[in-house]
Amino acid sequence: MTINNKFNIINVHIIIGGEIVELSERQRRIIEIVKENGPITSEKIAEQLQLSRATLRPDLAILTMAGFLDARPRVGYFYTGKSGMELLSKKINSYLVKDFQSVPVVVKEDASVHEAVSTMFLNDVGTLFVVDEHHFLTGVVSRKDLLRASIGNHDLNKVAVHIIMTRMPNITVCRPDDLLIESAKLLIDKQIDGIPVVKEVTDGLQVVGRITKTTVTKAFVELTLDE
Ligand code: ADP
Repeated sequence: MTINNKFNIINVHIIIGGEIVELSERQRRIIEIVKENGPITSEKIAEQLQLSRATLRPDLAILTMAGFLDARPRVGYFYTGKSGMELLSKKINSYLVKDFQSVPVVVKEDASVHEAVSTMFLNDVGTLFVVDEHHFLTGVVSRKDLLRASIGNHDLNKVAVHIIMTRMPNITVCRPDDLLIESAKLLIDKQIDGIPVVKEVTDGLQVVGRITKTTVTKAFVELTLDE
């Protein structure tokens, strides 16, 4: 049984219990057999490999768990048609903003730059969202916005954040049901560190969460922990 090159390149690894494991030669041969002959029973696969069914059982379990194969009772195993890459991209495309977002940190428009700096330090964040008296989103303040405002300005208590913030409608936002990968693309495309997660209500946008580069990094790490 030969294994085609394309298959070899994209399917050699699976993730089990957070560890990246290389598919064994036998597992790759099983996939090839099922690909060519599926649906096929485990007896038939065992026959082709001249092994016992019991010997194959752990391999079939791993390949089914990893999503390469699927099993139907009384029919047998069939190839799902998905490569490791496809399975990975399916997983990434299942991540939603609402499952990863963190708590937003907001300041009022009339808060001073000094207060904004304190809020940033106390909450250990790099981006603050600015809201009006109705708690609707009106702007964003980043670390560099605050640094810029601080240069040559000695009384930071006298400058309000609404003077220095980036304001609506130029704010990049996302929604809880958006794909996390779409927000990650926005972070790159717009060259920003954070995006407010918002819910639309009658007169404005309520801030309900925060997506940052850290959020995306965490999701990336979680991919390797996910079985
Ligand atoms: P820093 O300025 O500390 O490098 P960012 O890269 O996030 O942080 O911000 C760059 C600029 O983009 C800042 O002026 C900031 O106000 C603005 N900004 C940050 N986040 C957003 C956003 N979600 N939508 C629109 N503008 C933003």
